[in-house]
Amino acid sequence: MICASELEKYSVFACLLASQRERIASVAAEVIVNENEWIIRQGESPSFFVLLEGTVQCEKEYGGTATLCLQHVPGDFFGEAEILLDSVAIASLQAHSRCRLLRLDPIQFKDMLSSSRRCNDLVVEVMTERLKFIREHMQSNDQFRVEVTGSSDDPGCREVRTFLSQNHIGYRWRDHGPKSATEDGCGGSSLIVDGVISVGCPLTARKAADALGIKTRPSDKCYDLVIVGGGPAGLAAAVSGASEGLRVLLVEKDGIGGQAACSTRIENYPGFPSGISGNDLGSRALKQAIQFGADIIMTRRVCDLYPMANGYCLELDGAERVETQVVLIATGVQWRRLEAEGVESLIGRGVLYGASRTEGRAALGKNVFIVGGGNSAGQAAMFFSEYAATVTLLVRGAAIEETMSTYLMEQIQRRSNIIVEPSTEVVKAEGGEHLESIYTCSNGVIRKRLADALFVMIGAVAHSDWLSKDIQRDQSGFILTGEDVRKPFGKRAPVGLETSMEGVFCAGDIRFRSVKRVSASVGEGSMAISYIHQYLSRKQVYENRMAS
Ligand SMILES: Cc1cc2nc3c(=O)[nH]c(=O)nc-3n(C[C@H](O)[C@H](O)[C@H](O)COP(=O)(O)OP(=O)(O)OC[C@H]3O[C@@H](n4cnc5c(N)ncnc54)[C@H](O)[C@@H]3O)c2cc1C
Repeated sequence: MICASELEKYSVFACLLASQRERIASVAAEVIVNENEWIIRQGESPSFFVLLEGTVQCEKEYGGTATLCLQHVPGDFFGEAEILLDSVAIASLQAHSRCRLLRLDPIQFKDMLSSSRRCNDLVVEVMTERLKFIREHMQSNDQFRVEVTGSSDDPGCREVRTFLSQNHIGYRWRDHGPKSATEDGCGGSSLIVDGVISVGCPLTARKAADALGIKTRPSDKCYDLVIVGGGPAGLAAAVSGASEGLRVLLVEKDGIGGQAACSTRIENYPGFPSGISGNDLGSRALKQAIQFGADIIMTRRVCDLYPMANGYCLELDGAERVETQVVLIATGVQWRRLEAEGVESLIGRGVLYGASRTEGRAALGKNVFIVGGGNSAGQAAMFFSEYAATVTLLVRGAAIEETMSTYLMEQIQRRSNIIVEPSTEVVKAEGGEHLESIYTCSNGVIRKRLADALFVMIGAVAHSDWLSKDIQRDQSGFILTGEDVRKPFGKRAPVGLETSMEGVFCAGDIRFRSVKRVSASVGEGSMAISYIHQYLSRKQVYENRMAS
C-alpha cells in the first residue's frame, strides 16, 4: 500500500500539496517486481512509474540490438515522455533488484500534471533531458548492419528500404541526390551488409534478403498447408497452424505485414490501447510463427496454383514448386490506380501508391498531397504532418465524415498543418525528373499547385489475378467462399472459408464480403485453421477408406 506521507521525499511529488499527494496515494497502484522481471517492454503501452525502492535498468533496442543505456534509482520516474508524446514505450525497463514502484495510468498522470504547474515543469524538464540523452545514446551506438546508397527516386532503393523497415532492420541511408546516369545504368545505387557483403545493381528486396540471411527458399518440397500472403490474415494462420502441429509454409512476395505494415498506428486492434504500428504487429507475429516452426519465405511470389492427385502444387516465381495438402489464400489487396494525366510516368518520382514510414524523412519541410478520404489516407496525413510543412488531403467526396473514422477526423482537425479539401480531384501531374506540380479540380475550378510529393490512397483492388478461373471471384476479383460459392464441388458444400476449389481456403481482405480490418483478418486467418483441420481429418478418413 502506498501512503501519502512517504511520497513527500520524492521530487516529483514534493511540489504537490498534501491533499494532492493524498489523492495520488489513493489512486496509484503499488507494483512489486522481482529481480530481472520486465516492468515494461519497448513498444508496449506506457504508464507513468515512480521508483520507490530498488534499481531499474533501461534498455534501448535499436537496429536489431538491445543496449543498456540508463540505470534508475529510487525517486526516478519514467513513462512521462511516451504519455505526453502519445507514443508507445521508447525503451524497455527491467528490475535490476527487487523493486517497488508507484504506477499511474495516463489519465491519472495527466490529472496530476494539470493540478500543479511546478510538477508539470519538473516532468517536462526531465523528459527533455531524457530524450536528448536517448538520442545521443543512439547516435553513439550506431550499429547499422546495412548501408543503402542511391537516389530516393530509384525504385530499387525504395523497394529495399521499404523491405528493411518492414522487417525492422536498421539501415543507414545515403541519398546522393537525383538518379544520375552511370555506366552500369543503375545510377550508382548500392547496398552493403555488415560492411562486407556488397549487393550489386539493380537493387531488389530479394537480393537484400539473401544478403541478410532472410529465408527466400522453402526448406521442404511438401507441406500440410501453404499460406499465400504474409499480411495479418496469413500470419495469424501461420501462428495457429504451426502451433497446432501442421507443417506450414508461408510465402510472401514482399516483406512481412501486408497493408498493415503501411499503417503507422493501428488504434483499433484489441490489446493495444495506445495503438501499435503495423510493422510491430507484423514482426511480433512473424517471430511467433517461426517459434512454432512455420517455414516463412519472403520476396517470393506465388504465380500459379493447380490440383494434383493428393493435394495441390504451387508455383513460385523462378519456376520453383511446392506441394501441399491444403492452401490458404491470404493475398489481400493493392492500391487502385489514379487515372489522371501525367501520373503514371511520375510513379516512384514523387508520386507514390500507399505511404510507407521510410518516406517520412524525405517529406521534411515539404508540401505533401494525399489523395483519398479513407482511414488509410487519414493515418498517412497524421504521419506526414510530423515531417512536412503542409499536408493537403484531397478528397473526392463532399464530406470526409462519410469515409473516415471519427477519432481520426478529430485528430486531423487538431493538426494545424493538415488541410482537408473535399470535392477535389487531381486531374494532372507535371514534372521532369521529379514531380513538380499537380492540377486539382474543385467545383469546376482548376488550380495548379506546387507539389513535392503525391501519395495516392484511393481504395484497393484484389490480389487475385494469378488464380485460375476455377476459383470463383466476384466482378472485382474478391474470392467467393462458403455459401457464396455458386456451383459447389461434388456432394459437399464448401465450409465457411473454403473456396470453389475443395481444400483451398481464403481469409482476409481478399475474401468476398470480408471486413477490411486487421482484427477481422487475424480472426479469419485463425478460423481458417479450424476448417483446415476438419478438412484434413475428413480427407484422412476418406483416404483410409479408399486404401482399405
Ligand atoms: C495505410 C493503411 C492503414 C490501415 N489502418 C488500419 C487500421 O488502423 N485498422 C485496421 O483495422 N485496418 C487498417 N488497415 C487495413 C488493414 O491493414 C487490412 O485490412 C489488413 O492488412 C488485411 O490483411 P490481409 O492479411 O487480409 O491482407 P494484406 O494486409 O493485404 O496482406 C496480403 C499480403 O499478401 C501478399 N501477396 C499478395 N499476392 C501475393 C502472391 N501472389 N504471392 C505471395 N504473396 C502475395 C502481399 O504482398 C501482402 O503482404 C489499413 C490499411 C492501410 C493500407
